[in-house]
Amino acid sequence: MISTRPTIPADRFRERMTAARDLAAEAGFAAILVGTGADMRYLAGYPASSLERLTMLVIPTAGDWALVTPRLEATPARLCPPAAAGTLPVVAWEEGDDAHGLVGRVVRDANGGSVTAGRIAVSDDLPARHLLRLQERLAGARFELASPILGRLRIVKDADEIALLTEAARAADRVVAQIASGRLVGRTEADVAREVNERLVAEGHDHAEFAIVGSGPNSASPHHGASDRVIRVGEPIVLDIGGTIGGYGSDITRTLWVTGGDPANAPDERFRHLFGVLQGAQAAATRAIRPGVAPDAVDAAARRPIEAEGYGDAFFHRTGHGIGLEGHEDPYIIVGNMEPLREGMAFSVEPGIYLIGEYGARIEDIVVCGPDGPIALNEAPRDLYLVDG
Ligand code: ZN
Ligand code: ZN
Ligand code: ZN
Repeated sequence: MISTRPTIPADRFRERMTAARDLAAEAGFAAILVGTGADMRYLAGYPASSLERLTMLVIPTAGDWALVTPRLEATPARLCPPAAAGTLPVVAWEEGDDAHGLVGRVVRDANGGSVTAGRIAVSDDLPARHLLRLQERLAGARFELASPILGRLRIVKDADEIALLTEAARAADRVVAQIASGRLVGRTEADVAREVNERLVAEGHDHAEFAIVGSGPNSASPHHGASDRVIRVGEPIVLDIGGTIGGYGSDITRTLWVTGGDPANAPDERFRHLFGVLQGAQAAATRAIRPGVAPDAVDAAARRPIEAEGYGDAFFHRTGHGIGLEGHEDPYIIVGNMEPLREGMAFSVEPGIYLIGEYGARIEDIVVCGPDGPIALNEAPRDLYLVDG
């Protein structure tokens, strides 16, 4: 169970910041301003949390980059890989300083003193309280989203990122096996969710992020969560769980059926049929994955067999979402997304069939687009899990 955690080498962050700066320069930006969150973690390996004090990675296209941080967080800031390697200077500000003005100065200095009429790219999830102040301090500049630049980099995973996603997927696989072989009858969904969270961490996740335990009619609600409903025999459970390892997410769904060990409580014929259709759809969508194929076509591959069996209206969400430093990110496997898949893209394939008020099922894997086809990171069996306990 113990494994050596894959890591992103420190040099990679300098390469990513360089690539981001080059793309920004090409697009005519004066700077990229990256607040806390997945973009900062991707570029600088710094998992700072979002607070009212400004922490900002400043990447001017014509000058030196810097990590601007409140002084009381200077110690962890200096420990992020590129800062520790000496390739990212940390600029600490004191309580009472104008941190936004400081960022403005770094940008203006790199641009020969002025950015009037310049364009500034900001990370998409920068809080308004920071954005509005930065706009004041960089008056005259035009602010735009950085996602067209940073998204292009983040959408394709390198080998180290795929190693982390794989590690996370395998850890989540083990938790599914443990839950499916444990005792469920008579427990609440919330109690099972607590167990899932503990096991995700025990199996190597840094954080447990979510645990959907949808039993009985709740299995027909895709984003159910976990309630105080008590699990009974003779009903399905949609188990959708995930956490992060080194910032990279796991996200797996399997469908269970609680028999309590009594064949009289086995799934009814209708559910078996529904589940068989779903299994076929999930496999068909996975098989459709290869470089050059549009996500639109992968979504259609999942939808076609479900529609053919008359369940079209019962599959009412997209087939999948990208995953990486964020649980949901590009590429989205959805009708209308025609941007072709590329080698190294990682995303979920998770069709579901939901008969509202009755029951439902979903099967979800994380899949990487390999050079000539899909690479499923999850290896847990995709069958209906019959639970004895
Ligand atoms: Zn979801
Ligand atoms: Zn999921
Ligand atoms: Zn998902």
